[in-house]
Amino acid sequence: MIRFEQVSKEYTNGTYAVNSLDFEIRKGEFFVLIGPSGSGKTTTLKMINRLISLTRGTVWIHDKKISDYDINELRWNIGYVLQEIGLFPHMSIAENIAVVPELLHWDKQRIANRVDELLTLVGLDPGSYRNRKPSELSGGQQQRIGVVRALAGDPEILLMDEPFSALDPFSREKLQDDLLNIQRKIKKTIVFVTHDMREALKLGDRICVMKEGEIVQISTPNELLTNPVNDFVREFVGSGRNLTIKLEDLIIPISQWAETQSDENAISISADLDEVLEELMNTDSLPVKHNGEVIGIVNRQHVLKYLADYVRKGGREHE
Ligand code: ADP
Repeated sequence: MIRFEQVSKEYTNGTYAVNSLDFEIRKGEFFVLIGPSGSGKTTTLKMINRLISLTRGTVWIHDKKISDYDINELRWNIGYVLQEIGLFPHMSIAENIAVVPELLHWDKQRIANRVDELLTLVGLDPGSYRNRKPSELSGGQQQRIGVVRALAGDPEILLMDEPFSALDPFSREKLQDDLLNIQRKIKKTIVFVTHDMREALKLGDRICVMKEGEIVQISTPNELLTNPVNDFVREFVGSGRNLTIKLEDLIIPISQWAETQSDENAISISADLDEVLEELMNTDSLPVKHNGEVIGIVNRQHVLKYLADYVRKGGREHE
C-alpha cells in the first residue's frame, strides 16, 4: 500500500539521511521502524506525508506517486502523532479532536458523534472529558487525545513518531495496550518509529531495523528474534528479548483450578512478567483473569521450569 522505490534523501552538506530504501508496507499492517539515533527513521516517516522531500526515488501510496497527490488530500488521509502532544491549550478536548473533521466540513452532528465515539474508544467518558481543557488531563490522557485527534478524520494511514517515549513506563505500557486494542478494531496502516526494542516487539506486525540510513532487516518479531541477519540486529534485539515470554504461554488451563478457591489475588492476563514473578515469590500459584473471568493459573514450579528451558535455548522461542 505504501511503497518505497529506491528512495534516498541527501542533504546539501552531502549527508545521506536515507539511502536506496526499497520496501513495501501492507494495508492494515502495524509497521515499526527501529534503529539507533540518526539511522533515518524520522526521515523515512516524514517522507510519507511529504514533510521531507525526496532526493531520489519514488514513494507510492495505492500505486499513485505521493508527488501526484494534492498535498491537502494526502495529509488529511494520513494521521500524524508526535512525541510532543501539541494539543491546543485554549481549546476543549472536543475541539482539539474536531480539527480535521472541521477542515473536512463535516456537519456538527457528525463531528459531535465522532468525538464521543473516539473518546469512548480510548476509555475516556465523553460526558466528563469532552469539555475539559488539555491541562486538566494527565500526560497519558493527553497523549491518548493526540492519538484520537490523528484518527478523527478517519485517515487510512497513521504515522507515529516516538509517540509514547515522553511518558512514564506505566502510562507507556498502558497506551501501547490501548493502541493494540484500537488497531484490532480499526485496522489502519500504522507506521511507528521507536528506538525501544521492547516496544517494537510488542506492537509490530513487522519490524524494519535501520542503520546509517539503510535497511538491515525487515521481519516479524519472531523472525527477528530467531533469525537476526547479523550481529548488529542480534545485539539490538537482545535489549528487548525478555518480552518474548508472554504470560499467556505460562498459563495452566482452568480445569486444574479448584473452583472453591478465592480469586481475590488474581492477576490480569496483560500483567507484566516481572510483576507475576514477584507475586510468585510469595505464593505457589495465582489465578489469571481475562475480561473478569478466571481462565487459568500460573504456578511457580511451572514458570521456573519454563524460564530455565528458555535460558537454556539462548532466549529463543519456546519449542
Ligand atoms: P532518526 O530518526 O533515526 O534519529 P533522522 O531521520 O532524524 O534519524 O536523521 C538521519 C540522518 O540525517 C542523521 O544523520 C541526521 O544528522 C541527518 N539529518 C537530518 N536532518 C538533516 C538536515 N536538515 N541537514 C543535514 N543532515 C540532516
